[in-house]
Amino acid sequence: MQSGYDPGNLAPYASSERTSRGRIYAEPPPVHRNQYQRDRDRIIHSAAFRRLEYKTQVFVNHEGDLFRTRLTHSLEVSQIARSIARELRLHEDLAETIALSHDLGHAPFGHAGQDALNRCMKNFGGFEHNLQSLRVVDELEEKYAEFPGLNLTFEAREGILKHCSPKDALKLGELGQRFVAKNQPCLEAQVCDLADEIAYNNHDVDDGLRYGLITMKQLLDVQIFREQYEEVNSRYPNLSERRQIHEIIRRMINRMVVDLIETSKDRITKLNPKHPDDARKQTDYTICFSDELREQNLQLKKFLRVQLYKHYRVQRMTKKAEQVLTALFEAFMNDHNILPPEFRQHCDNLKQQLGDSGTARGIADYIAGMTDRFAIVEYERIFNPRQLSFANLIP
Ligand code: MG
Repeated sequence: MQSGYDPGNLAPYASSERTSRGRIYAEPPPVHRNQYQRDRDRIIHSAAFRRLEYKTQVFVNHEGDLFRTRLTHSLEVSQIARSIARELRLHEDLAETIALSHDLGHAPFGHAGQDALNRCMKNFGGFEHNLQSLRVVDELEEKYAEFPGLNLTFEAREGILKHCSPKDALKLGELGQRFVAKNQPCLEAQVCDLADEIAYNNHDVDDGLRYGLITMKQLLDVQIFREQYEEVNSRYPNLSERRQIHEIIRRMINRMVVDLIETSKDRITKLNPKHPDDARKQTDYTICFSDELREQNLQLKKFLRVQLYKHYRVQRMTKKAEQVLTALFEAFMNDHNILPPEFRQHCDNLKQQLGDSGTARGIADYIAGMTDRFAIVEYERIFNPRQLSFANLIP
């Protein structure tokens, strides 16, 4: 149903209220805002969104106040995605919604947490953060009287589910179809996917330098960094290092965003889509970097993988995170009585539907919803004998 508040200059290939596949539960249209603004507002008011503030991107949340968290990461993705969407005359509100919600299902401690939880769930259907994000917005948020979850539009849910195995996709009905048919998501979702990459590659360089895990000297081997470094150095030879780093990184982001917009504009002109589904039917993304920039981006990603994500200090954090989450999962699986009552109930409900896999899924929901610091405190409460006073045992 249409509110009539879509932006006025949308391209025919942009998602819109007119072409939307709507919500699972029918609702009256919003007043004074469009359907995707309503989605965005529901995300911002969700509990899962607030928790992003205390969830790790790469560095555990309490390592330092200046590092990115999943919340600041999501805001950066949103800023980049909106700029691109507006320039391509896509639906900026939908792009913002997808960007702000794309990481809602992440477990604490970043990818280490995801991997640990996936291992724990091996015999119970696995754990995958994209699917979990969808689970958060479809089922786990408890806010509305008339439906579970946030009842977002199809397009927002399509954008949140960035990856999905064909096996899981079969369980998801219309939303999973594209993974089976190997189609693409709407253009706004494609924009957010690439905006995510631009954001994390650049802010991981910034955070890695700040933390002293990588150096400018090492980064000179990476072409996209070196080019911006040379330009900044020739223009401003006496700049302090902090300003120099910011000038380089802002130029790298700009280089990637401009390339993405120009390449995508060319591809859209060639494809000449008349409807959002025309882009969905393609075998590849319509939104993409030029070949040259894709190569440079791959080089940067490889550098970060080897020099930053595999750095022994990051690996130590990873190890600890795995131990915390694995121990919590096993403790809850062995004894449901130590779960807080509402999650015990949640597990019991899921057990009735799915048996032991349901119990495990309920525990994974509880753990995935934890912030980094909550997971550490919960671990202390359960395993540290010095924490035996009753007040310390209550989550
Ligand atoms: Mg992300």
